[in-house]
Formats: sequence, structure tokens, C-alpha cells
Amino acid sequence: MTRIPYLDLKAVNAEIQPELDRAYAQIVASGWFILGKAVETFEGAFADYVGVRHCVGVGNGVEALHLILRAYGIGPGDEVIVPSNTYIATWLAVTYAGATPVPVEPDPHSYNLDPNRIEAALTENTRAILPVHLYGQAADMRPILAIASRHDLVVIEDAAQAHGASYQGRRCGGLGHAAGFSFYPGKNLGALGDAGAVTTEDDALAEKVRSLRNYGSKKKYENEMLGFNSRLDELQAAFLSVKLPYLDKWNEHRRQIAEVYTDAFSQVPELTVPHTLDSASHVWHIYPLRCTDRDGLQAHLNRAGIGTLIHYPVPPHLSEAYATLGYKQGEFPVAEAIAQTELSLPISPVMTMDETEVVVGAVLDYFG
Ligand SMILES: *Cc1c(COP(=O)(O)O)cnc(C)c1O
Repeated sequence: MTRIPYLDLKAVNAEIQPELDRAYAQIVASGWFILGKAVETFEGAFADYVGVRHCVGVGNGVEALHLILRAYGIGPGDEVIVPSNTYIATWLAVTYAGATPVPVEPDPHSYNLDPNRIEAALTENTRAILPVHLYGQAADMRPILAIASRHDLVVIEDAAQAHGASYQGRRCGGLGHAAGFSFYPGKNLGALGDAGAVTTEDDALAEKVRSLRNYGSKKKYENEMLGFNSRLDELQAAFLSVKLPYLDKWNEHRRQIAEVYTDAFSQVPELTVPHTLDSASHVWHIYPLRCTDRDGLQAHLNRAGIGTLIHYPVPPHLSEAYATLGYKQGEFPVAEAIAQTELSLPISPVMTMDETEVVVGAVLDYFG
């Protein structure tokens, strides 16, 4: 039986193993491991790729968002609009800053923050909107930015799933005031460990995040603010510089797989295929299929040797961690319905078209 893992990271990295080995050897030989040339080089390359003036490497994705919020002075008493259907890290970043996440439902087709529902959630304490480009498709940023400008709010993109995605011809990470990226190993651009970055056109914000990531210090032993230790390692930066030139090719491959899935499943009445926006170019970090009998389909695929995941089984408002906010089942029905019916099919730069057809066959077989 063909076994198709959800994501084979060994195979992804094997493609470029000699280059990764060289990068590793260079860093070891340099004897310099924190905030040096490799970080600067990657920051420059990623800023150019996104099309912004600044990239600041940080420890991971949730810290990228946290430091942006801190740098904008958002804290206790402040509210931040977040999607009701996201990975909990989006909410946690707001909580780390001492502010309160205020959930808003997604559009039921794009799965991204519904601009039409934002204004009803604003209060005099709202300071920012934190849209997520979920699954690799840009949120509908134009109306979100218009609302933000009317109410004098900051827009912070959670671009952790959207490396290389674009909206109206511009890359995610350069659409709002600032953006947080994660380079967690499984992301479209992934390090060999934890890593993240902040991208922005805002000079002052970039300066502040540079200081916040390094104990509140730009010059050794001179601490201008209460900072954190959230730095991008030289080693991870070197690996990311090796991988960045492959990102567009890898995303293109993901698109081909997604197209095969969508063509095969769009006529199956029990299935809902992801809706793509004309204005956005999707990078398919995740292929989110929806099915009312999700658990049955997942068990069937598992028996057929096909790995799947659920993104995400518990929406943040129903997680134990946020019990203190007092939300109940039924309060965010769109997010809850996604959590109950979403199934992520295998998709990656190394998955072959033959394997894709095997997955298609196994899914269709369930409804045959
Ligand atoms: C991965 C992810 C994060 C967090 O990134 P880490 O690097 O794991 O901290 C935040 N938001 C979203 C939407 C993510 O997918």
C-alpha cells in the first residue's frame, strides 16, 4: 500500500541537503551564532522578496506578532480584533502583550476575517485589527484597511501561513502596517527549528522591534526599554537564505496539487472545496476540504495510508486556555462549523502528481 504522509519534511530538506550542509559548516566555522551577518543577509533578502523596507528576524511567529503589538504600545485595557477561526497563536500574541483578543467571524467561503462584521465589534478601546491570511490565502485587506483608517487603528497581518501569497498584486507581509511571519519547519518557508520575522514599511516600528527582540538594547549593555530575548539564530537565518530562492517554485507545485484536488472534488455533493479569490494568489499552506462526515472521511483515508490533519479542531474561544474570557459554544458558529468539518489533505513541494491522484482516488472511493 502506498503510504502518503501529510508532510514529509525529510524529503523536502533532502532536495537541498548539500546547500544546507554548506550553510551549517560556514556558521560553525564563523564562531558567531547570534545577530550577525547571516541574519542581516536573510533580513535583506526577505524584505526584498516581500517588497518592504524592513525585515527584523525574531525567535518565532507568535513573538513576531507580540513584539509588533508591544512596539505599537498596545497593552492592558486595549482590544485587538482577531479572527474567531485561527490558530491559537494569533490570540496568544495579543494576550502576551496584555491586551484582549476580540473575535470576529470569518467569511464562510474564504475562511478569512469578514470585513462586514468588524465595525460591530469595535469599541473605544480597540487599537488594532489582526487579520490572518489563513491557509495561505490573503485576507480581504482593502476593506479592512479602510475600516482601520476610518477608526485610526493599526493593521497587523498574521502572515505565518502566507509566504509568497499576494493580494491585488502585492505580497502578504507588506499590506498592513506590519506583519508577523513564522518559519516553523512545516510552513511554506520553514527553518530547521523555530524562527520568525517582522516585516514593515514603518521605520520607527522596525527600530523598536530590533530593540525589543534583544533585551531592549541596540548597543550592548545599554537598555532603552524592557525587552525580550527573541532573536533569529544565525544558523536558522543561513538555512532560510538557502531555502528562500526555492519558495516560488515550491508554492507553484502546491498550486498544481490544489488544482487537481479542486477539479476532482468540486462536483462531489458531500464535499466543499476551498473558494479562491480573484484578487488573491493562494499559496496553499493548507488544502482545507470540508465535509460534514469529516471524521468518517479522515478514518477512511487513515486506513488507506493517507495522512491528514485538522486545522483546527478547537476554535480559540472554546479552548480551555481562554475559558477566562467566558465564551460559550454557539457564540461563533462559523468558526465552530469550520472546526467540525475541515480536513487538510496532504500537500507539499515534494508530493508527486501520482500521489495526488492516489489521494483523489481514496477520497472519491469513500463516496463511491
Ligand atoms: C504557525 C502560526 C503561528 C505561530 O508561529 P510560531 O512560529 O509557531 O510561533 C501564528 N499564527 C498562525 C496563523 C500560524 O499558522
